[in-house]
Amino acid sequence: MRVSLARVGDWLRDHARAIRAVQWVLVLVYGFLLLVPVFLPLPDDSARILNNLTLFAQFVFWGIWWPFVLLSMVLFGRLWCGMLCPEGSLTEWTSRHGLGRAIPRWMRWNGWPVVGFASTTLYGQLVSVYQYPKAAMLVLGGSTLAAIAVGLVYTRGKRAWCRHLCPVTGVFALLGKLAPMHYRVDETRWLESAKNRRITIAVDCAPLMPLRHMKGNSGCHMCARCSGYRDAISLSARSPAQEVVELGAVEATAWQTVLILYGLLGIAIGAFHWTASPWFIAVKQACADWLAARDIVWPLENNAPWWLLTHYPQVNDTFTWLDGGMIVAYILATSLLLGSTLSLCLAVAVRSGGRWHWQRFHHLAQSLIPQAGIGVFLGLSTLTVSLLKAEGLHLWWVSGARLGLLLLANVWSLWLARGIVRGWTPDRARQSGALVAVALALLAVDGAWALLFWYW
Ligand code: SF4
Repeated sequence: MRVSLARVGDWLRDHARAIRAVQWVLVLVYGFLLLVPVFLPLPDDSARILNNLTLFAQFVFWGIWWPFVLLSMVLFGRLWCGMLCPEGSLTEWTSRHGLGRAIPRWMRWNGWPVVGFASTTLYGQLVSVYQYPKAAMLVLGGSTLAAIAVGLVYTRGKRAWCRHLCPVTGVFALLGKLAPMHYRVDETRWLESAKNRRITIAVDCAPLMPLRHMKGNSGCHMCARCSGYRDAISLSARSPAQEVVELGAVEATAWQTVLILYGLLGIAIGAFHWTASPWFIAVKQACADWLAARDIVWPLENNAPWWLLTHYPQVNDTFTWLDGGMIVAYILATSLLLGSTLSLCLAVAVRSGGRWHWQRFHHLAQSLIPQAGIGVFLGLSTLTVSLLKAEGLHLWWVSGARLGLLLLANVWSLWLARGIVRGWTPDRARQSGALVAVALALLAVDGAWALLFWYW
């Protein structure tokens, strides 16, 4: 298996030109689907995915691209980033022709992935990014322009944007930890090659990975350029638990924990919830009544511009200032409630498993990555399902598939947690206590998805 995977890596390395051509085709398709629908009228009730470009672009971006890119991270690591992502291609290309400045300190701040993910998720909800081409152009196109600008100013031929500022780099880095393959570095072979003074051409690693000491998949874009380097690096199979269980003990960070607990399992769930939540409607109605009774009418007006709050009167879809405030409040409240509940469960688990240590807490939080990743995939695929249902497809199997995937996520997370806790203590009773607390955390997340998929 290792040999054949290594061959795949070498094959990808040797076909870099063809891959680059595919990247540019994708850049063109991406630009076309992002820009052209902006100039078309909004689809009417008779429009279908195959006869309306706006609906087609919506389906491609949010029904296929986004959920399946997330899924690909879990299956193949960040292959999408290295081989196909239009933003990655553009930022790398522009950085070959730009100012070539060094990456500044502010860009290296480890909190950007959390800030980027939280702000784009919230803003995307306010402007209804999944529904309207202008909103998609603003969110996706804005990110692409920023990637180009960063490329023009910083580094020479590298991907500073992808490594530090892309709004989803943190999420991709987490999901990539689960991939059953990675570029493995054989330290002994590396040293042998150095001892033999073999001449090697430096690898052009765009996300600036420290090749010799590379252990995990988080930052690697799986571009294959280093495949076979010094006869020491090869695409290899690994256990989908390896990176989380083994490397997480030293590499897990507080920002990653925040992104898992309050981001993927908090903000993202809140963003999927609010459109279906009866609580959202009840609280919003109560607030509206309270404001109306006091003659405070400006929050009930829908005069915000489309780039701030959803504003499409031609299809009767406009947000008031109260809507906007409520959406932000609901999503943040969900994040705080779920994130804090999960933190509490994990803290109990750490204490049950032995002495308290923050690193143990961050390590154990990584066991929830499968639950977080598969949950977000399911949340995003609700749009895929509703678009396909609107086409008249009878998707009878969806509910069962959701249940199956959630079960898989639970089992996978518990498996990772078991591996982590076993490293803390040989005491079976302590291990079991910790796993019960992790199971409670998983149940809390299951409950949130059950509300969305089966109860509301
Ligand atoms: S380490 Fe760098 S060069 Fe090697 S596959 Fe990953 S991104 Fe590409």
